[in-house]
Amino acid sequence: MPTLVEQRNIKPLALLVISVALIAGMTTYSFASIQRYGTLLDESEQIEKRLFALTRFVSLLKDVETGSRGYALTGQREYLEPYDQGRIQIGQNMSRLRKLMSGDSALFRQFEQLSKLSDEQLQNSGRIVAQGFMVPLTAADQLLLDDGKVTMDQLRDHVAGIDEAQRGLLQQASGAASRQARFTVAIVALGISLSLAVLGLLAFFLNQEVIRRMKAESDLGDLGTELDDHTELDDRIKLRTGQLRKNEARLSGILAASPDALIVVETSGLISFASNRLQDIFGYDPKEIIGKPIETLMPKRFRNGHSGHLRQFLSAPQAREMGAGLQLFATRKDGSEFPVEISLNPETEGEDLSVVAAIRDISERAAVMESLRQATNKAKMAELKSEFLANMSHELRTPMNGVIGFTDLLLTSDLNEEQKYHLQLIAESGSSMLVLLNSILDLAKIESGKLKADNAPFDIQEAIGSSSRLMRVAAEQKGLALNLKIDKDVPQYILGDEYRTKQVLTNIVGNAIKFTSSGWVSISVSVTGAPEARKIEITITDTGIGIARERQKEIFDEFVQADSSIVRRFGGSGLGLTISQRLLEVLGGGISCESEPGKGTSFVVTLPLIEAGPLRDDSSDHADRGAEPNKAARNARILVAEDHDINRVLITALLQQLGYHPDIAEDGAIAITKIEQAIAEKQPYSIVLMDLQMPNVGGMEATRNVRRMGVSGEELPIIAVTAHAYQEDIKACHTAGMQDHLGKPIIKDDLGRVLEKWLPASMGAEKALV
Ligand code: ADP
Repeated sequence: MPTLVEQRNIKPLALLVISVALIAGMTTYSFASIQRYGTLLDESEQIEKRLFALTRFVSLLKDVETGSRGYALTGQREYLEPYDQGRIQIGQNMSRLRKLMSGDSALFRQFEQLSKLSDEQLQNSGRIVAQGFMVPLTAADQLLLDDGKVTMDQLRDHVAGIDEAQRGLLQQASGAASRQARFTVAIVALGISLSLAVLGLLAFFLNQEVIRRMKAESDLGDLGTELDDHTELDDRIKLRTGQLRKNEARLSGILAASPDALIVVETSGLISFASNRLQDIFGYDPKEIIGKPIETLMPKRFRNGHSGHLRQFLSAPQAREMGAGLQLFATRKDGSEFPVEISLNPETEGEDLSVVAAIRDISERAAVMESLRQATNKAKMAELKSEFLANMSHELRTPMNGVIGFTDLLLTSDLNEEQKYHLQLIAESGSSMLVLLNSILDLAKIESGKLKADNAPFDIQEAIGSSSRLMRVAAEQKGLALNLKIDKDVPQYILGDEYRTKQVLTNIVGNAIKFTSSGWVSISVSVTGAPEARKIEITITDTGIGIARERQKEIFDEFVQADSSIVRRFGGSGLGLTISQRLLEVLGGGISCESEPGKGTSFVVTLPLIEAGPLRDDSSDHADRGAEPNKAARNARILVAEDHDINRVLITALLQQLGYHPDIAEDGAIAITKIEQAIAEKQPYSIVLMDLQMPNVGGMEATRNVRRMGVSGEELPIIAVTAHAYQEDIKACHTAGMQDHLGKPIIKDDLGRVLEKWLPASMGAEKALV
């Protein structure tokens, strides 16, 4: 098969061959024509020469005959000269004629005939001349002369025959020569024209070829330039291939690391690619799912509507979350459903459009979210419960304060024994109710996460000691010994929450006394744990009724008692241990129980041990100076800010019993006005007893305003009167600018002590002001 280059060369080459052949043919043919023309011309020339020689021969022969005859008839010798000359030249002429007529046999035979007649004539003339002057003529002379004449006439006729034939031949040759000349000219002209045409065509194709070659050369030049860059191109290809491989490796790394299963879905709805994660998430081998409809991965109930969604996405393709705001589900190979998150991305390659879907299994997250939701709900419920209980307990406390306060007031009046006993029962019931209210409130606070433990230095030995002292009366009343033993290595000051520690101890020791009818209760304190995690261990042991093994865990649950007879025999709510355990969790400690029914119980309370330095004693300035108010103090001006009518009557009555004459403000705003007025009239108050929850302006806000007015705690101590006597409440009171707090229900002795504690300082300040 010829190559492209060979194919391209065929036309000019053929033309070249044709033109060369044509020119060669034409030239040969023309040359042959010219030769033929030359031959014809030569032939004509020969004939002409022959005719001329014949004419000359006849003429010379006539000169010989005429000369011989003239001499014979005249006897003059002059006639012999043409005779002699003729005879000589005839010889030459005859040899010439012989040459000219020897080429053709017929012609040569005519020449021989002519030569014979010529010889006869010459012989006749010779004889005449030999006779000399013949006049008078003899018959023999006459015959001789006549013979000469006859031969001459024969000769003339023979020459005329030859001449005529030769002239005919000449005419033929001339015609042929001229025809040949015309033909040759035509042939040469045609040959030249044809050659020129072929050469023109050849030139055209050659020109085309030259143009093509030039273009090819230029292309070749470009290609050459490109080829010059070949090495660089090669390097670039290698580099690019390397990058592509790297990218490919990176992509498969990303796909492997991605928590999502990635699939590509074609417009037909068929899956054309799936990453290996599909196996982990769906249980399908990626190869197995390719070519399957996307609906294979969906729960049956969503399959029908899906093609519509796909069309919708393809009509306006843009990256987005699928089913934003909706919970999407997918189906595993085993048919199980699970929640997913799907992000869609359009992929275009040329005119082809497909969808890349990243599917994330969110089962775990959904489970976490669900538990979070439940926890949040629980927390919300606990918060609502806490709020409700806080409100309820406040609402219950206020009348309870009235009951307890007035009972307390009545108990100091003149009563008979029975009345006193009844009143004491009312007071105890009120106190029990308050304890229960406080417990419920505590539990609600713990459950809502609102209870925050204090982390301040306190005297742990004193805290345990005071709790023990507090419970000693109850123990002694039951004839029980209450022993306290604190190991030597127990530090005095630790970081923690004093109030809550005391609350727990009071509860556990209270239980020990409550559930022990004879024997003893002991409190022993020691340090345990590794040096880096030391703990204070407080063990409260009793010789009481004990707790059955199977109930020892449950008693820490809310409202649970060891058995149903407990409430009848000992009362209680079943909240104490729950609260203690929760409080200890908040404090970073714990509680455990060991018991043998009928023999006794041991509760072990642990607290984290973080030693603290000695406390700064700032209570010396306002030392408790005893319940008896001094004279100066009794003249003190006391302002009571209290919105509740009964509480106002109670506190007024209590203060009057203590020898004071208070002013009353019905809310915080009135209190501020009264304080301002008193200062302006230079009769400032010595102390303010401030309720916290009041309409318009509450106790905290009123205190902050008073402090902002520039009235210091030294000049005017403000005592919070509150049912919320928790550590955080007390802290908040101090932050607002209050100096102390008094818990509700107000007990006369407590009130007296607080006034005694704070009045002397303000009285001094009062003096300074006046
Ligand atoms: P309450 O004492 O108000 O009933 P607690 O939560 O303080 O509630 O105690 C729960 C239960 O644990 C008690 O009812 C009682 O049955 C049992 N219990 C607690 N402390 C002792 C103890 N020292 N000895 C015997 N039983 C106890």
